[in-house]
Amino acid sequence: MYSLSSTLSRIKGVGPALEATFAQNELTTVNELLLHIPLRYEDRSARVNIADLKVGELVTLTGKILSPRNFYKGRRSIQSATLADETGKVKLMWFNNPHVIERFRVTGNFLVSGKLNDKKTIIQPTVESFKEEGGQIHTGRLVPIYSSIKDVPAGTLRKILKEIVDHLTIHEDSFANEHVVTNGFLNLEDSLKQIHFPESEAQITIARERLALEELVQLILHSHRLKEQWKSLHQATTFPKPKTELLNKLPFELTNAQKRCVQEITHELTHEEPMNRLLLGDVGSGKTAVAGLACQQVMSHGANCCLVTPTQILAEQHAQSLHKIFPEMQIEVVTSQTTKQTAKSKKEKEDVAQNMTKRPTLFVGTHAILTRLELFKPGLLIYDEQHRFGVQQRSAAFGLERQPHILTLTATPIPRTLLLTIFSHLSLSVIDEMPAGRKPVETRLVEMDQRGKAYDWIAQILHTAHLNKSPSQALVICPFIDPSEEKAFEDVAAATQVFAEITKRYQKTDIKLALLHGRMKKKAQQEITTQLFAQNVDLLVTTPIVEVGLDLPAAKIIVIEAAERFGLASLHQLRGRVGRAGQQAYCILLTTSKADNVKDRLAQFCETHDGLKLAEQDLQRRGAGDIFGTQQHGLDQLLFANWTNLDLITKAKRLTDHIISQNITWKSPLEKIFAKYSEDAEIPLAN
Ligand code: ADP
Ligand code: MG
Repeated sequence: MYSLSSTLSRIKGVGPALEATFAQNELTTVNELLLHIPLRYEDRSARVNIADLKVGELVTLTGKILSPRNFYKGRRSIQSATLADETGKVKLMWFNNPHVIERFRVTGNFLVSGKLNDKKTIIQPTVESFKEEGGQIHTGRLVPIYSSIKDVPAGTLRKILKEIVDHLTIHEDSFANEHVVTNGFLNLEDSLKQIHFPESEAQITIARERLALEELVQLILHSHRLKEQWKSLHQATTFPKPKTELLNKLPFELTNAQKRCVQEITHELTHEEPMNRLLLGDVGSGKTAVAGLACQQVMSHGANCCLVTPTQILAEQHAQSLHKIFPEMQIEVVTSQTTKQTAKSKKEKEDVAQNMTKRPTLFVGTHAILTRLELFKPGLLIYDEQHRFGVQQRSAAFGLERQPHILTLTATPIPRTLLLTIFSHLSLSVIDEMPAGRKPVETRLVEMDQRGKAYDWIAQILHTAHLNKSPSQALVICPFIDPSEEKAFEDVAAATQVFAEITKRYQKTDIKLALLHGRMKKKAQQEITTQLFAQNVDLLVTTPIVEVGLDLPAAKIIVIEAAERFGLASLHQLRGRVGRAGQQAYCILLTTSKADNVKDRLAQFCETHDGLKLAEQDLQRRGAGDIFGTQQHGLDQLLFANWTNLDLITKAKRLTDHIISQNITWKSPLEKIFAKYSEDAEIPLAN
């Protein structure tokens, strides 16, 4: 029997030479070698009779080997043999593989895995002598394919790992047995066996889940230790829940998911320990109302709040929509103007602050707010759409006497954020339910030759809306402001160009157009935004400036020019801008690209309305670093878990919560595997 700590020299089949080779690859224990998990599996489990062989199918045959021989053709050595079972015979052939003939010296049945070619021969098949039930290593089963270890033949590696898992015992403590195994997870021993030599595809998944759970628990426990340290350094103000029920005053009934999140957040605000929570909810799930309720609780105790937005437009937008939901709330939009005014002298600064904070106020503005936190002294600091910010900006809060509670709102299941959830003391609230009556946005991919038709159709819809006096708006999103920006992509749509084109196309219609982009004067931008909200604009041509958060209830159609230039998660954000009042809405993707992979990706987007799934697809296609523009430090560290598997992460979190609240000492037998998450390991921390 082997244990995780057995040295490889103890393993049957590992002689001094192989031991040395493993050692050169920094592999000395069972534990370490078991971490060399298969890259993939080859399904050689389909067993057939020779009579039923079909060309090109990967199958396994069983029979006797007849007349094996070795001969030369030029400089090449060729090996051949015949395999016979009760139903027939088939020819086998190898090149430059004289060892294979030696294997046929033993008598008895052989298993042969390979594909029949059109010359009735199986070229380079894998052969293995017949073994008792479960004993097969290279044939007749799901066979693990490993990345190569230098100087260790693939077959040898597979054989050694099979020897290990066949004789492996792992003792798990009673807690793990009680809480993990009884919850439908495999035990660790079986997980390691199944991940190397699975009985079925399903077992691979189940095994991986358990190992991922183990890994996540280790990570979260480590994060917990860090969190404890952090808490001991800072204190936040406590904000008890107000006596009157605030929920009743809202213009709509919160969804159950919203209620649960409000509950979680407002409860945490009553603690001295600073909150550091992520509020995750798909576009349009109603994060603003939840955040507003948290502000109300804080402000009812006389403290200020700050809401940090990615753009100035969004700051104004947020102020307006919050005002609609919370008419009595004192809300101030902080502009760069305010910054200039207050920055004159320290005394003046304080005066302004005093003035501003006579009544508890919610300050809304861009990250410029962060440089002025000592003025506002917020009890609660909210970040909207965190992925727009550099991580460093978050730490701006920490120079304060009192640590504000922190709430981060996001629509994207950002791997980085999950990283933070696990590594760095974030707690998580998820709005996993849409307000009632939302219809999925009908999404179409439109080829360039249909572009004119698409714009005519939009004109028709907007015109009809005028006639019916039912306000409808359209947004046209262009990746760039003017054509000069991206010379390399000549046909990429630029906002100024598209605006000119549509203006011409619509000149005989009653449709009112506007152009909005970040290089326009602030005042002009503001004017257009105002016109937009007053519904004096029917169609807005703009850059992705509106991507995050802009809430136009009448927006019915969104056109995305050069759609191939956006990630799926970004496209989903954009699509979330329409249909927000419950009307049937449309999203039109335009592309000049003829590439199959581009079209596939966009077609997939048309079918999928789940933000989480889209982010996963982005992740698979492009890798996390690519989506979010920065290298994801730490992502590679995960062996088994997947940052987008929220479900498993939630389970791991629940288990960890239990371990912590019950003061249980949890020592994973795989501790060595996860040594990098142990106490003294360096862990990259954001905050
Ligand atoms: P997001 O989560 O994308 O930030 P918002 O908070 O902007 O979403 O909410 C989207 C729209 O839905 C807003 O107009 C908001 O007033 C409305 N809304 C939010 N919660 C509800 C609800 N429970 N019932 C009906 N409408 C709601
Ligand atoms: Mg929002």
